[in-house]
Amino acid sequence: MKLEGKTALVTGASRGIGKAIAKALAAEGAMVAVNYNGSKEAAEQVVAEIQAQGGKAASFGCSVADPAAVEQMVAQIVAEYKRLDILVNNAGITRDNLILKMKEEDFGTVLDTNLKGVFHTSKHAAKQMLRQKSGSIVNISSISGIMGNPGQTNYAASKAGVIGFTKSLARELASREIRVNAVAPGFIETEMTQKLPEAAAKAGMAQIPFRRFGTAEEVAKAVCFLVSEDASYITGQVLQVDGGMGM
Ligand code: NAP
Repeated sequence: MKLEGKTALVTGASRGIGKAIAKALAAEGAMVAVNYNGSKEAAEQVVAEIQAQGGKAASFGCSVADPAAVEQMVAQIVAEYKRLDILVNNAGITRDNLILKMKEEDFGTVLDTNLKGVFHTSKHAAKQMLRQKSGSIVNISSISGIMGNPGQTNYAASKAGVIGFTKSLARELASREIRVNAVAPGFIETEMTQKLPEAAAKAGMAQIPFRRFGTAEEVAKAVCFLVSEDASYITGQVLQVDGGMGM
């Protein structure tokens, strides 16, 4: 097991990609803090599934968009487990619409969760990682942040922002060998893509050389690699897990 003795926080781990990441990190021996916003029961189910497989996990409810709540959550994790080795910033939302129909609020809410959320968690996790002089952060961006996507000016801006944030923080923390990378998934089968209108899903599929959507487990494997010692000389990178869509 590659992550024995490590403590990990995965945001938005109650379902979808975050759930797969939490389970994959736990399977490698990490103690996983399963963060959720609204889906308490689903998060507790993730914890139960991990424990049933002999892993270690606990759930922590808080919105990543709430700076005070994030500070408290990270402090609680550090108090209970004495360390924080891995942070996976996965929590994310969409509020898609064409620019003329997009409400101010929908632009702001997406930026608050997808980009400012990454700032809040990283700030408090980095404080602990700097104390430990070790740690690894992976931020979940998106192919939309690289290629753009009609109807997603808010979402693509947040995910492009995550890439700039990742590279800047990687430079800030590199002298302590704390690594910061991003994973940019393409279309992945989750509730987020189930919400896509049929035409948008079809148009997306047409752009994927593999001619299929990816699975949450395929994204989780890339995250597991990046947080492990196997990636010890890798920082500031964006790993695309997209079936060739953005090559
Ligand atoms: P999903 O199935 O909709 O799940 C989203 C997760 O984020 C849920 O666990 C949700 O928790 C959590 N979340 C939302 N707002 C939150 C907040 N304010 N604080 C804490 N947690 C919050 O989405 P997904 O498809 O798994 O996507 C996961 C990540 O991958 C996102 O960052 C997304 O942008 C990115 N991504 C997804 C795809 C794709 O095709 N699916 C492609 C590229 C990138 P609750 O249920 O508790 O609210």
